[in-house]
Amino acid sequence: MSNCARGDMSGGPHIALFPNAGMGNRMPYLRLATILLGRRCRITLITPRPTITTAEAAAISSFLSTYPEFARISRSTHLIRPMLSSASPPLSAVISDLFAASQIAPILTDLHLPLYILFTTSVKFLPLIALLPKLLSDPSRLNPSSSDVNFPCLPPLPVQSIPPPLFNPGHVFTQMLATAFPAFQRAKAILMNTFEEFEKSTLTALNHDRIIEDLPPLLPIGPLRPYHKSRELTPKGDYKTWLESQPVDSVVYVCFGSKAPIGVAQIQELGKGLVGSGFRFLWALKTKISLDDEYNDKDQETKSEDVRELLGDSVWHENGRRGMVMSSWVDQDEVLANSSIGGFVSHCGWNSVTEAMWAGVPVLAWPHNGDQRVNAQVVEESGLGVWVKEWGMGSGNGLVNGEEIGEKIGEFMRDENLRERARKIGEEARKAVDAGGSSHETITKVLKSL
Ligand code: UDP
Ligand code: UDP
Repeated sequence: MSNCARGDMSGGPHIALFPNAGMGNRMPYLRLATILLGRRCRITLITPRPTITTAEAAAISSFLSTYPEFARISRSTHLIRPMLSSASPPLSAVISDLFAASQIAPILTDLHLPLYILFTTSVKFLPLIALLPKLLSDPSRLNPSSSDVNFPCLPPLPVQSIPPPLFNPGHVFTQMLATAFPAFQRAKAILMNTFEEFEKSTLTALNHDRIIEDLPPLLPIGPLRPYHKSRELTPKGDYKTWLESQPVDSVVYVCFGSKAPIGVAQIQELGKGLVGSGFRFLWALKTKISLDDEYNDKDQETKSEDVRELLGDSVWHENGRRGMVMSSWVDQDEVLANSSIGGFVSHCGWNSVTEAMWAGVPVLAWPHNGDQRVNAQVVEESGLGVWVKEWGMGSGNGLVNGEEIGEKIGEFMRDENLRERARKIGEEARKAVDAGGSSHETITKVLKSL
C-alpha cells in the first residue's frame, strides 16, 4: 500500500477506503468514494502501488483531477498503522477489499475501528469464497469430475462455473482466497455492488436463512453509479461522434473487460460474426498488441495497421461505416449510456454487469474465467440477458465460429422483450440508489451507525 489520497469534506464521518489493484477491483471503490463524498463523508483513499496498466493509472489520475478535494501523498505498508491511528479527524470506519482486509484487520481491532468489506463481484459468487476452506477440507465436495458443486440450502453451481484453480488446493489463487476468508468474519458487514431485487433469492438465503455460519450481513448498496468525469480527461476517440449519429438501439457493443482474454482465432471469428449479424457494432478490442498503451495512445497508426491485419479487410472495410473497432480504451459508462446502444456482448466482469444494469442495456453473456460464469448465470436469472453456455473463448476445441456468433447476435439484437426487461431493470436500479430507495437507505443506516 503506498498511495494515499484524502478528501477533506466538512461534516460526516471520516472513512478510509482500501481498494485492491486492478481496474475491475478498483473501479467500485472510486465510485463508492464519490457517493460517500456526496453523503458528506470525509474520505481517505489508500491505494496499492504499482498500478497494473496505464489505463488504470490514467483512470486514477483523471479521477483525482476531477475531484480536487483529493490530494495525493505517498505511504508504505509499515506506515498503515500510524496513518490510521493518527488520522485527523479520527477515522470512524474502514471499507476494504477482502485481501487488504485480512492484512489490516488486526490493526483495526487494536484501534477499535469497524471494518466493512466492499465485495467486488456477485452475491452468487460469495458462498464459493466463504465456504472455500470447508470445501477444500473435503475433496469430494470440490471435485472437477462431478457435475455440480453443492452448497447447503443454495442451488448447486455447475462444475464448469467454478474457476479451475479452485480445484487445486495448492494453487496460489486458491490459497489466497482461502486465507482471505477469516477477514469476512471480522467485518461488521459486507457491502455488495448490487441491489436487493437483482439477486433477491441468494441475498435472502444468506441474510435471513443464515446458511453460512458467522457470515456478517450482506448489504446491497449498488449499483455503484459511474462518477462524473471532466470531459477533457476522458479518453478521446472517433467512436463518440460515430455513436452519436447512429439510430436508437441499433448498435451492439462488444467488450470483454480491461484485459485481453480472447485469442487471435476467436477474435477473427468474432469479427466475421459481427459483420454477418447485419447489425452495427462498436467493438472495444483488447489484444496483446494494444494492452501496454491502450489509453491516449501515441502510436495509433502503427497499431491500426496491426489490428487491420488481425481482423482482415472484410471487417476493416466496415470500420467507420457500419461499425467501429477501438483498440484504445473506450469510456464504457458513456458508451452504455448512449441511446444508440441496443445490446452488450460482455464477459460479465461484475463491473460490466452493474454498468449494464445501470444503463438498462441487455447483455449477451460470453464469460471467460474467474467469477464470470457465475455472474453470467446471475445475468440470465435476473432477466438482464441471455447466455450461450456452450461458448468458450476459443481455447482447445472450443472455437466458436463466426456464422454461429452472427446468428446469435442477430437474434439477441432483435429480442424486444429482452430489451424491455433490461430497461425495467435499469429503472429499478435507479430507484434503488435514489433517495428513499433500498440501496440509498442502506448506506444511510451504515453512516448513522458510525
Ligand atoms: N472498461 C472501460 N473501457 C474499456 C474496457 C473496460 O471503461 O475499454 C471498464 C469497464 O467499464 C469496467 C472495467 O473497465 O468498469 C472492467 O471491469 P470488469 O469487472 O467488467 O472486468 P475486468 O476487466 O475486471 O475483467
Ligand atoms: N477478488 C476480490 N478482491 C480482489 C481480487 C479478487 O474480492 O482484489 C475476488 C473477487 O470475487 C473476484 C474473484 O476474487 O471476482 C476472482 O478474482 P480474479 O482475479 O479472477 O478477478 P478479476 O480481477 O479477473 O476480476
